[in-house]
Amino acid sequence: MKTLQHFIGGRAVAGTGGRFGDVFDPATGAVTAKVPLASPAEVEAAIASAQAAFPAWAATSAAKRAQVLFRFRDLVVKDMDTLARLVSSEHGKTIADAKGSITRGLEVIEFACGIPHLLKGEYSAQAASGVDVFSLRQPLGVCAGITPFNFPAMVPLWMFPVAIACGNTFILKPSEKDPSTSLRLAELIGEAGLPDGVLNVVMGDKDAVELLLADARVPAISFVGSTAIGRHIYASGAAHGKRVQALCGAKNHLLVMPDADMDQVADALMGAAYGSAGERCMAVSVAVAVGDETADEVVRRLEPKIRALKVGPYGNTEADMGPVITRDSLERIKGYVAAGLKDGAKLVVDGRDLSVAGHERGFFLGGCLFDYVTPAMSIYTDEIFGPVLAVVRVADYETALGLVNDHQYGNGAAIFTRDGDAARDFVARAQAGMVGVNVPIPVPVAYHSFGGWKQSLFGDLHIYGPDGVKFYTKQKAVTARWPSGIRAGAQFHFKSGAEH
Ligand code: NAD
Repeated sequence: MKTLQHFIGGRAVAGTGGRFGDVFDPATGAVTAKVPLASPAEVEAAIASAQAAFPAWAATSAAKRAQVLFRFRDLVVKDMDTLARLVSSEHGKTIADAKGSITRGLEVIEFACGIPHLLKGEYSAQAASGVDVFSLRQPLGVCAGITPFNFPAMVPLWMFPVAIACGNTFILKPSEKDPSTSLRLAELIGEAGLPDGVLNVVMGDKDAVELLLADARVPAISFVGSTAIGRHIYASGAAHGKRVQALCGAKNHLLVMPDADMDQVADALMGAAYGSAGERCMAVSVAVAVGDETADEVVRRLEPKIRALKVGPYGNTEADMGPVITRDSLERIKGYVAAGLKDGAKLVVDGRDLSVAGHERGFFLGGCLFDYVTPAMSIYTDEIFGPVLAVVRVADYETALGLVNDHQYGNGAAIFTRDGDAARDFVARAQAGMVGVNVPIPVPVAYHSFGGWKQSLFGDLHIYGPDGVKFYTKQKAVTARWPSGIRAGAQFHFKSGAEH
């Protein structure tokens, strides 16, 4: 069995703290690696390394920083098969799904390659007589990223390429459940010419996170994970004077209007609810059907498709979805299904007893479908993070919209309709950070920014895209008077440009 290492100062470093976590192959249930859980000395080494690398990297021209990212982009493309295998073997998702997620991360690297353009400031000549005003954006220093298990390549790539492009150094603390991909990414960007210490990967659990949160040398934290932890990270980071963006849990609704294209709806719900075994923060977990006829049609179309879902290990190229991440997750999801039944929802498809031949100890679960779900049930209020879809029946559009807007989460929301008026109203009034019109998973492209509302995000700025550049830089406004020969005299009151 392999023992993973940290990546500090441009090289692999063994964990010496004596604490290790288990990394599983979710398809077999077997432990495949031990991951070190960083000691305070190892976190200190990463911070010191990132801090030492910062001045030279911040002073490197934006064009040179971009060149490293161009080479990194090419290496990720070449390494796609290896990276996808690493993602799938520790996360469990299919290879096709892993490649799709890496490609979305790749698009963020491509966005970051444009950093010379993205960092351009604004300039006002002759704001007053002989006075010019301009703004520039400067890097923050040592930034840290704490990432979840569900996208071991994509979410780290949402963060560090943008942070590094802006001239920061970075400490990545990946999920201890599937950490190997982060190490591979660090090796690749090293090969691309990134100076030692600019990107460090610290393996660890909450102890490492607490040290990063408390350290004054780390001015910014990006977090992606569950709401309970994100809320704590935001509060603690803010109390320590840091800027924090914490992207958190979700319960994404898809409204089905009576005039929607039902073939399109059924396909959209299948992919969005069961792809990646429902372990996506943008998964659709609630279908709100407007009118009983619409609901009957949705359930009638979904039921056979869910029963026909191919569930299997990532090596099976026929599989639509793989296992969930851990046995605990499996039991938690089954617990929610039992609670839904107890609360009176109708379990149309029960995937709890699925067994995959040859993989009986894997963390597999089939797709589950509930009908007649009501807002009081825990299968409606809570993020289940598994392949469980709840159909809620409502009489009209306003009630459907009210469900989206009253829910604690506001990550994504979608409407399927042919009615432009309804779609336009939904775009304007839905209380969610990302909205889809006939698009079930409206993840913005890399040159827009990703983020939710309500309990799905703590902080002001979304991640990657233009908000990412803002998050990883601080703005400076400069007011300069030239030529030096101008004498303004002592001034005891504020003056506007018009007075000069
Ligand atoms: P998690 O909150 O358990 O873990 C996320 C990270 O926090 C990991 O690196 C983990 O080691 C660390 N962590 C865990 N407990 C901690 C503690 N007590 N103190 C400090 N750090 C701690 O999340 P997860 O189970 O890995 O990921 C699934 C969650 O992530 C879901 O809720 C999902 O919706 C969310 N997610 C959100 C987005 C988004 O963009 N909104 C994207 C992906 C995943």
